[in-house]
Amino acid sequence: MTTIAWPEQADLEAWRHDFHRHPETAFEEHRTSARVAELLRSWGLEVHEGLAGTGIVAVLRGQRGEGPAIGLRADMDALHVTEMNDVAHASANPGRMHACGHDGHTTMLLGAARTLAAQPDFSGTVYFIFQPAEENEGGARVMIEDGLFERFPMQAVYSMHNWPGLPVGAAAVNAGPMMAAFDIFSLTLSGQGCHAAMPHLGKDTLLAACHLVTQLPALISREQPVHKPAVLSVTSFNAGDTFNVVPEQVKLRGTVRCFDMEQRARIEQRLRDVIAATATLHGLTAELDYIVNYPATINAPAHAEACAGVLAELLGEDKVHRNLPPSMGSEDFAFMSQRCPGAYIWMGNGENSASLHNPKYDFNDALLPLGVRYWVSLVTALLRDGKLPSAE
Ligand SMILES: [Zn+2]
Ligand SMILES: [Zn+2]
Repeated sequence: MTTIAWPEQADLEAWRHDFHRHPETAFEEHRTSARVAELLRSWGLEVHEGLAGTGIVAVLRGQRGEGPAIGLRADMDALHVTEMNDVAHASANPGRMHACGHDGHTTMLLGAARTLAAQPDFSGTVYFIFQPAEENEGGARVMIEDGLFERFPMQAVYSMHNWPGLPVGAAAVNAGPMMAAFDIFSLTLSGQGCHAAMPHLGKDTLLAACHLVTQLPALISREQPVHKPAVLSVTSFNAGDTFNVVPEQVKLRGTVRCFDMEQRARIEQRLRDVIAATATLHGLTAELDYIVNYPATINAPAHAEACAGVLAELLGEDKVHRNLPPSMGSEDFAFMSQRCPGAYIWMGNGENSASLHNPKYDFNDALLPLGVRYWVSLVTALLRDGKLPSAE
């Protein structure tokens, strides 16, 4: 029985605080990526840079010989948020912040890479995937377009996210939906601007847009089955800039989220129908840009069960939730798990943690060693006897 040389807490915190202090947003993670590559090389891993620009894949082959290949994925990007924490490692880049904990995700995967590189006591291959641009820009999709799965063929892929509200030492994994699909839309309504005292001489875009703001959410509440979660929010309304003019144009923006891809297509179609009908009713033209963005993150049941087993051994069976309601937030890991089976888990960031994307959020350092242990235990469990969970 060999003892595993876990990284020191002080080292993990030093890496994480350095990333936190120097946050970089989508596809601009140059400093972060260079530091990740430098550390991985210093531990003897084979490092491939440049996927999706700043993305990295590090390769580690087990000393027990041939076996399956699996991918472990962390995200590296920060957000356009101004940090409000008063801590020594607070962001030094104004307007940018690690408000989603990707600094912690990167650190935990680094810790696992170091631990496993020192003792690659498994059969097969582990690919450590450090991806850019999880927020909004779909860095996972771009890595796939850059040949992630062709250059590094793998039979399974796994990821994790810290989860505020869950205590540190608790985790969650569902055998199915974890995060919703995420679409966005932009609408421009054009009519005929006129004097506000003579509305009969124009076509009122603003009034029509107000109808849409109240009507569109009803596409969910009145048309979708109540047991199938879906949400539509109008999030931006821009029109007019004075007292006595009916504006020529109105611009609306919003988002649609759900888990079922047929339902997603139906909602999009109905949104198009309602916008077209409203435009006709008010004598306007409508230009809609509907972007099908991230897919839903759906865990393969056998892989979710394997992850839950590892978590139960690490944290205790009573600390592992297998049936939490999925989040209506989204996650671009979905692009990877759509191509390759696997599972995505949540690990507790603490009950008192500020929520994700909040300016007072900070990744909880107490979670760092647990995340490292999870990754190492998962590799050991999956690649011990060379048999991955079978696809259902
Ligand atoms: Zn986020
Ligand atoms: Zn995130």
